[in-house]
Amino acid sequence: MTHTYDALVVGAGYIGCSIAYYLSAAGLKTALLDRGGVANGASRANYGNIQVQDAELAHSLPLITAGHERCRQIEAELDCPVGYREIGGLLLIETESQWQLMANRLPALHAAGIAAELVPAERLPEIEPLLNPASVLGACYHPHEGQVYPFALMGAYIRRGRERGLALHTQTTVTGFALSGGRLTGVTTDRGPFSAGTVILTTGAWTPQLGQLLGRRWQVPHVHGQAIVTEPTERLLRNHIASAAFFEEMHDTGDGAGAVLAISQATHGHFLLGEAGVVTGDLGATATAAGQAAIAALVGRYFPALRRLRVLRGWAAPVAFTADGLPFFGPVNGIDGLILATAFKSTVIVTPLVGETVAQLVVGGRTGLDLSPFSPDRKLADGH
Ligand SMILES: Cc1cc2nc3c(=O)[nH]c(=O)nc-3n(C[C@H](O)[C@H](O)[C@H](O)COP(=O)(O)OP(=O)(O)OC[C@H]3O[C@@H](n4cnc5c(N)ncnc54)[C@H](O)[C@@H]3O)c2cc1C
Repeated sequence: MTHTYDALVVGAGYIGCSIAYYLSAAGLKTALLDRGGVANGASRANYGNIQVQDAELAHSLPLITAGHERCRQIEAELDCPVGYREIGGLLLIETESQWQLMANRLPALHAAGIAAELVPAERLPEIEPLLNPASVLGACYHPHEGQVYPFALMGAYIRRGRERGLALHTQTTVTGFALSGGRLTGVTTDRGPFSAGTVILTTGAWTPQLGQLLGRRWQVPHVHGQAIVTEPTERLLRNHIASAAFFEEMHDTGDGAGAVLAISQATHGHFLLGEAGVVTGDLGATATAAGQAAIAALVGRYFPALRRLRVLRGWAAPVAFTADGLPFFGPVNGIDGLILATAFKSTVIVTPLVGETVAQLVVGGRTGLDLSPFSPDRKLADGH
């Protein structure tokens, strides 16, 4: 039996859940498919931070600023709590070259209306008392970032989508595509065929596999990112903390033991400590002993007070990225009916905006956002 829909969304992470909701809300008969359950990929492993701090500056600021504004309204829009709160973000700076890198970013951020300032180490205890200021030269401070509870947000999209007719097909792997005269007419899966006028791929690190089925060589490598989760405590951390070294080191191709600082306290009080990352072909979710030890050593150096916390577990997930830091977001040339929305540099901040934008594209054939820099057909350097 063929399942027939107006639109199919493949991948039930942040981006897929959001798109599926907005398509359903626009009145389209929509199905959301995932090879696992909801949040089976990178969206299972993340901190839920609404991050402006690592924005790509050349083309992404309109997406980031509009996305941030949409995040602020998300609980009212979905009429549902998703753990939204405003927090600040600190990018810790340890070297003169990182200080200069951060200073160079400020004019573009300010021009886009994003508050950011460089703070010397001696002022950091006012902003983040838990931090050992002797460990850094200073930080780039973004006072207006935010956080959601990841599963609450994805769950809210699914629930509100279902109220509008959304069909969720978990444990359903897309294994092929049906094409007729250069137009996509559906997908094949291990649960049978699905037909639809539009297919949207939000498949993260698995996107190259699906591209191969279409004869496309989409260059979406991934990093095997891992983190440690501690027992919950009262709220101790005021900000999301990351390292300016992220701009230099995160996409390491080494042995996976390297880690770059990224710490948050989740809405329920758990500390999320990371982040070890290595570029790999491994699409699995196994945390490694070397990666976990590297994270623990790093955290102890900057936040000695956290050493006494009990670790509950570690986790890992494949996180897609692109060589130019821009997402694959928009229609695919030569395959009518196919849209890609994946490999966003910071995903949470753009999640509602991306869903709404795809719904505009599908329903009206156009959107107010300039998606041309994000074309999945753009030329990228080989590898990452
Ligand atoms: C430790 C850690 C912390 C992070 N913290 C943050 C943060 O605070 N803020 C932030 O913005 N980002 C963060 N990230 C990055 C963030 O998690 C990812 O960018 C985001 O989850 C990507 O979401 P997505 O919906 O694009 O893809 P994914 O969540 O990876 O979803 C892709 C989905 O596609 C499905 N799929 C793949 N192939 C098929 C197929 N053939 N058929 C059917 N389904 C298929 C997969 O099962 C998967 O569910 C963090 C990452 C890590 C590792």
